[in-house]
Amino acid sequence: MKVHVCNPHGYCEGVLRAINIALDTKKNNPNHPVAILGMLVHNEFVIEFLAKHGISTLERPNSADEDFLRHVSDDTIIIFTAHGHPKVYEELISNRGLSYVDATCPKVEVTHDVIINALNNNHQIIYIGQTGHPETKAALSINAENIFLFDINLPFNYAQISDLTPVVINQTTLSLDELAKIHDEILTYLPGAIIENEICSATRLRQNAVKNIPLDVDIIYIVGSFHSNNTKKLVQVAKLSHPNADVYQIQTVNDINPAQLKNKKYAGVAAGASSPLELTNAVIDYLKQFNE
Ligand code: SF4
Repeated sequence: MKVHVCNPHGYCEGVLRAINIALDTKKNNPNHPVAILGMLVHNEFVIEFLAKHGISTLERPNSADEDFLRHVSDDTIIIFTAHGHPKVYEELISNRGLSYVDATCPKVEVTHDVIINALNNNHQIIYIGQTGHPETKAALSINAENIFLFDINLPFNYAQISDLTPVVINQTTLSLDELAKIHDEILTYLPGAIIENEICSATRLRQNAVKNIPLDVDIIYIVGSFHSNNTKKLVQVAKLSHPNADVYQIQTVNDINPAQLKNKKYAGVAAGASSPLELTNAVIDYLKQFNE
């Protein structure tokens, strides 16, 4: 089968950096438990890989995050994920006498800097993101009173904004097209809004690569975890840009059902920013050797 491969298709800088920070922390502290506060990056295979290196992940379902600190030993080193974290956790961890290492992606830190700077200049903030996503939670925690979440899946209540020139910023992994529509809507209601487009370059490059998949492909596979927002957005982009192709999100080559490939001659492959390269390469190799 003919295969078009989207580039880039390995880890983005922020994911690679976070993995290396976690591995280095364990290497430099072999006698300490090392635990990540939530998924370091949104990919189960990365979490398994880290576990094999003695780095555990503290899951946080249905519970206040700080509760989990009660269950870690006093010599544990906590790692904050690439998505950012509420700053109050740093205090909670220090108060508990634990140390921590911060693996927040520098591109996420940039959004925090923009927010803090705008708040210092007395602007309200409209933050475009998804309720419950760790990056959104971290951003909202900067200031509960003056940051207003524009959930991409819900209508926004403009009555709560009293600033005529609010600063508009976003989660780094949204879809560029979806974000452009939301910006247009906000500018209709608030023409003085100051738009700060903070889709990160890794997300931007991957979405553009998907749009540029030749239009005559029959099928597109997007490799990535169902936890990964940037992967879900690639699926959304692929469905919009290639309405005549079948689009599937898969985690590994094992998720390909050969029946999907019946009568297909040309495939496109793209991957989320936290998908291990070897998983994507296995998909590419399988498709290249596939013969009906
Ligand atoms: S997708 Fe962007 S913001 Fe997220 S870790 Fe990668 S570079 Fe950082």
